[in-house]
Amino acid sequence: MSEQRLPPRSEDFSEWYNQLVLRAELADYAPVRGCMIVRPYGWSLWENIQQALDRRFKATGHVNAAFPLLIPKSFLEREKDHVEGFSPELAVVTIGGGGTLEEPLVVRPTSETIIGHAYAKWVKSYRDLPVLINQWNSVVRWELRTKLFLRTLEFFWQEGHTAHATHEESYAETIQMLDIYRDFAENDAAVPVIPGRKSDSEKFAGALRSYSIEAMMGDKKALQAGTSHDLGQNFARAFDIRYLDRNNEQQHCWTTSWGLSTRFIGAIIMVHGDDQGLILPPRLAPYQAVLVPIHKNDAERSQVMGVVEPVRAALADAGVRLRVDDREGMTPGAKFYDWEMRGVPLRIEIGPKDVEKGNVALARRDQPGRAGKSFVPQAGLPGAVTNMLAEIHASLYDRALKFRQANTHDPRDYVEFKQVVENGFAFSWWCGDSECEAQIKEETKATTRCIPLDQPGGEGTCIHCGKGATEKALFGKAY
Ligand SMILES: [Zn+2]
Repeated sequence: MSEQRLPPRSEDFSEWYNQLVLRAELADYAPVRGCMIVRPYGWSLWENIQQALDRRFKATGHVNAAFPLLIPKSFLEREKDHVEGFSPELAVVTIGGGGTLEEPLVVRPTSETIIGHAYAKWVKSYRDLPVLINQWNSVVRWELRTKLFLRTLEFFWQEGHTAHATHEESYAETIQMLDIYRDFAENDAAVPVIPGRKSDSEKFAGALRSYSIEAMMGDKKALQAGTSHDLGQNFARAFDIRYLDRNNEQQHCWTTSWGLSTRFIGAIIMVHGDDQGLILPPRLAPYQAVLVPIHKNDAERSQVMGVVEPVRAALADAGVRLRVDDREGMTPGAKFYDWEMRGVPLRIEIGPKDVEKGNVALARRDQPGRAGKSFVPQAGLPGAVTNMLAEIHASLYDRALKFRQANTHDPRDYVEFKQVVENGFAFSWWCGDSECEAQIKEETKATTRCIPLDQPGGEGTCIHCGKGATEKALFGKAY
């Protein structure tokens, strides 16, 4: 194992990220350009993300199902904006079983169309509504510029698809799911996010309105970390999803869709990581703590291991995800380095001196060096570890929030705006006009990330064109 350092995060953020993903063994490159192999450690992190979300989906009445990977190409053409938006990114299957197919099939880039087709068959009456289904799957979008987790040809995600009787209900669902993403990001991933509405030009192809949670990465760029779409009746009309209302009249349904992907792993890396590697939020970390026994000879070894076993059992009973690293032929220093790279939140060391004193040494991953080190009695260790994990979560969240706040500005004029979006977010009055937005993008490379739901109220003048504005938008360069 190489103990070579990562490129400093402050000097080459992009290369720091690429090497970290490989060296922490989260993912690897695939033979097909732009595809990704998710390694067991990365997949274990994704499984914890899945569980944290799935629990919330089920608590709000959703159920899981599975829809096909292949979709008739004609389905995508039924919704005009949808096909326009997705055509350049489609992978199309034209040959099957050795023969040319009568109708080309697309590998799903998202599943609104195939699910719309199914809902049209299943929904007959207002009694069948709402339909609240989610699926965990992978989708393919033929991206040209790719980066592990952030943008890959195939990525893993969940897509929720719901159908409702009224717009009031579908809108409430859209906002509810956005808030579930916010809650997950903040309380499980320790990633502070700004929930808001997408501008017309940034919305999902085929949606009435799109909403997102936006996070600031360690290089002050934005990452869209989850989206929730109010699809209005666009897909219900395209796929004829109708129901008989209480007055026995045919009505089109109102639908939503919402998704969060393996891209979120990129957010976790870029928000929390440091020059030593990954720092995982304790609630999602595959291993919340790693226990490294320290011994120089067989006598010390048996003395130390006599304490390791009861400590391991006590932590397991307390629900701590623990890995005991008793690999032979590897120095404790090499093990520390390895687990720091992989971002395990807490390291527990037990050596002969600790055995004598009835202590263990704890080292926090988020506070390198002496600052993060403490000694606690073996008795009561599970409580101390649980508390420290909660503290690490809180401190990761606070640090990320302070960083975002320190790098979010309210520029006085467009000259200042251009400066601040070079290196952070601008929260500015904006007229809402697409032409104005396109000019800002052209001149600064910054885009509207979202129009935050939390608005100051009142009115102002657009930061770019000076026209009247009733809302402030968040601008920044984005991944
Ligand atoms: Zn304007």
